[in-house]
Amino acid sequence: MARKALINKAKATQKFSVREYNRCPLCGRIRGFMGKFGMCRICFRNLASKGEIPGVIKSSWWLFFVDKLFLLLYNAKPYL
Ligand SMILES: [Zn+2]
Repeated sequence: MARKALINKAKATQKFSVREYNRCPLCGRIRGFMGKFGMCRICFRNLASKGEIPGVIKSSWWLFFVDKLFLLLYNAKPYL
């Protein structure tokens, strides 16, 4: 867990745009940030495993064969 000061500093509008960077809103992690989901890889994995991210399911080898069918049926994309 990052220091509260650093989390608040990242949220604030910076004087120069190059100083802005992504930080996970759930845990404050800077590395492993997934822009598509707006959180870090660890929080993403935790939430995806619980099924709390819509349209994300755990990937498996057999999905390779039914990938297109799966997309048609459930409109979900294997991600993990
Ligand atoms: Zn996180």
